[in-house]
Amino acid sequence: MPEAYKIIDHSYDAVVVGAGGSGLRATMGIAESGLKTACITKVFPTRSHTVAAQGGIAASLGNMGPDHWTWHMYDTVKGSDWLGDQDAIEYLCREAPAAVYELEHFGVPFSRTEEGKIYQRAFGGMTQNMGEGPAAQRTCAAADRTGHAMLHALYQQSLKYDADFYIEYFAIDLIMENGECRGVIAMNMEDGVIHRFRAHAVVLATGGYGRAYFSATSAHTSTGDGGGMALRAGLPCQDMEFVQFHPTGIYGAGVLITEGARGEGGYLTNKNGERFMERYAPSAKDLASRDVVSRSMAMEIREGRGVGAEGDHIFLHLDHIDAATLHERLPGISETAKIFAGVDVTRAPIPVTPTVHYNMGGIPTNYWGEVVTLKDGDPDSVVPGLFAVGEAACVSVHGANRLGSNSLIDLVVFGRATGHRISSIVKPMSAHRPLAKDSADFALGRVDALRFSKGGSPTASIRLAMQKTMQANCAVFRNSEILEEGKRKIDAVYQQMADIGIADRSLVFNTDLVEALELDNMIPQAVVTMHSAAARTESRGAHMHEDYPARDDGEWMKHSIGWVRDGTVTLDARPVHAYTLTDEVGYIKPKARVY
Ligand SMILES: Cc1cc2nc3c(=O)[nH]c(=O)nc-3n(C[C@H](O)[C@H](O)[C@H](O)COP(=O)(O)OP(=O)(O)OC[C@H]3O[C@@H](n4cnc5c(N)ncnc54)[C@H](O)[C@@H]3O)c2cc1C
Repeated sequence: MPEAYKIIDHSYDAVVVGAGGSGLRATMGIAESGLKTACITKVFPTRSHTVAAQGGIAASLGNMGPDHWTWHMYDTVKGSDWLGDQDAIEYLCREAPAAVYELEHFGVPFSRTEEGKIYQRAFGGMTQNMGEGPAAQRTCAAADRTGHAMLHALYQQSLKYDADFYIEYFAIDLIMENGECRGVIAMNMEDGVIHRFRAHAVVLATGGYGRAYFSATSAHTSTGDGGGMALRAGLPCQDMEFVQFHPTGIYGAGVLITEGARGEGGYLTNKNGERFMERYAPSAKDLASRDVVSRSMAMEIREGRGVGAEGDHIFLHLDHIDAATLHERLPGISETAKIFAGVDVTRAPIPVTPTVHYNMGGIPTNYWGEVVTLKDGDPDSVVPGLFAVGEAACVSVHGANRLGSNSLIDLVVFGRATGHRISSIVKPMSAHRPLAKDSADFALGRVDALRFSKGGSPTASIRLAMQKTMQANCAVFRNSEILEEGKRKIDAVYQQMADIGIADRSLVFNTDLVEALELDNMIPQAVVTMHSAAARTESRGAHMHEDYPARDDGEWMKHSIGWVRDGTVTLDARPVHAYTLTDEVGYIKPKARVY
C-alpha cells in the first residue's frame, strides 16, 4: 500500500491535460460553452513546445496566388502516403481558413503582404491544382516565430474564460473504471500534494514523445506523457512507427532550422557543392516532403558525399538570399544559426542533419477528438470520457508523413472540434457518480515505487540507452536486421526499468522523480514504435524499410495499433477511413507518391 499522500479532491465538467496550442484551444472552447473546466500543465502554458514552432500554419487562404481547400486536402492525403483518414483530412482542410482567421482575430501578429493580407510562404509538399500545378504558398507565418505568436495569443484569450489553470502540476495517470475515463490524478510539483480531478471528460493534449530519441528538435518536456497514460490504461497507441525526421536540425545541437528557410529559397548541398535534391525530386527539389528530403540527405551521407570532417552532415545555404529578406522573414533562425552553429547565415552555409521532429503516431481518435479503440470487432469503438488532441493524438490526418505547417492547424482545428464535442455531450455542472475508493491507488503505487526505488540504474542511464537504441535502430533507414536487433535492445532497456534507482525522496520540486515518471511514459511508446516498425513489411511515408522498398496497399494500407501489457507488445490494425465527409472531393485514390 502506498505511503499516505495528502490528496485534494476536485470536481470538473472537463479537465484538459496540456496547455500547448491544442490544449489551450480545447480549454477555451469548453470553458466558453459554460462547462466548469480545468487545464493542468507541467510547464507554464507559454513554455509548451508549441512556442518553438517557427515556419507557420497551413490554410488555403489564397493570399499569394490561387488556392483551394480541396488542393490542400489532396496534398495532405498524398503527404500521408494514403495512410491518413480522409474524413478527418477533409475536416481539417475545410476548417483551416476559418481557424486561421480566428487566430488573427485573437491577436496573432501575422506577417503581412503589401496589401495587408496574411503573408503565406511555400512549404514542402504544398501544391496547386490537386498536385498538378506549381507550389502553393499556403503556410501563414508570423516571421519565423509563428508558434510563439500563436501560443501567447491563445493563452491570453483563454484567460478571458472561466477556466482554472493548474500550472506546474504533473498528471500521473488516468482514473479508469470499466473502460470509462472518470478523471485524472496529478501531483503539484511545488509541494508534492496529490490532486484527484473527477471529470466527465478528460482531454489528453500532452504533445509528442520526440525525446525517446537521442537527437530531437523538440523540448526536453516532449516525453509523450499522455501516450504513456493511455497505454497503462490498457488502450492502444496507433501508427507509432511513423516518426518524422526534419531534414534541417543543426548538426550536433539538434535545434531546428525551419523548412521556411527552404520556402524562402534556401537549398541543400553535399561535399561537392552539388544541389543533390535535383536528382531525387526533380520537380519539388528542396521542397519535396520531409521524408523524401531526409532520406536523400541520409543517402548522400551514406554514399560518402556528406560534409565536415566526418562526412556526416549536409550544408543548408541561405547565403545567396538578400540580407534584408533574411532579417525580415527569418530573424529567429539567423540568431539560432549564430548561437548553435557559430554561422553568419548571410555569409556561410549552416551544417544540418535529419533530426527527429514529429510523431505521426499517437492515441487514436476520430475527428471529434474522441479516443477510439478496437473492441469486440469494432475498430472505431469510442472510449467514454476520454479525448486526445494535438501531437499526442493520431486523428489521423498526417498518416505516414506530416506535411510541414499541418500540425499547428491540426492543433486549433481539432482543439476546437473537441471542445464542441464535449459541450454537446456534457451538461454544465451535471452530477458526478462517486469514484471507487481505490481510484488513486494505481497512480500512487507508481509514484511510490519510483520515489523509493533503490536499483542500480539511474534514470539518466536508462533514458540514454533508450534514446541511443531508437536513434540507431529506428531512424531514417530501416531493415529487418536493424529492426530485429532494435526489438531485442529496446525490450532489454524496458526490463532495466525494474532496476531504476533515484536519489531524491523529497516531495518539493523533485525533478528526479518527475524525470523517472517521464521515462516511464516514454519507454512503452519506444517499445511499441520499434515493434510496429519491425512488423510493417513495406515502405510508406516516414517508414522506409530497405528489404521492402515498395508501398504495399493490399496488405498494409491500415493503421497499426499496439498495446503493452506486462512488458509484452500486442499488435493489431484498424482500417484507414477511405471515405470523405461530403462528395465535394470524394475519396482520393492511391497512386505513386512522387515529387
Ligand atoms: C522546433 C519545432 C518547430 C516546429 N515548427 C512547426 C511549424 O512551423 N508548423 C507546424 O505546423 N508544426 C511545427 N512543429 C510541430 C508542432 O509545433 C507541434 O506538433 C505542436 O506544437 C504540438 O502541440 P501540442 O498542443 O500537441 O503540445 P505541446 O505544445 O507539446 O504541449 C504539451 C503540453 O502538455 C503538457 N503536459 C505534457 N505532459 C504533461 C503531464 N504529465 N502533466 C501535465 N501537463 C503535461 C505540457 O506542460 C504542455 O503544456 C514544430 C515542432 C518543433 C519541435
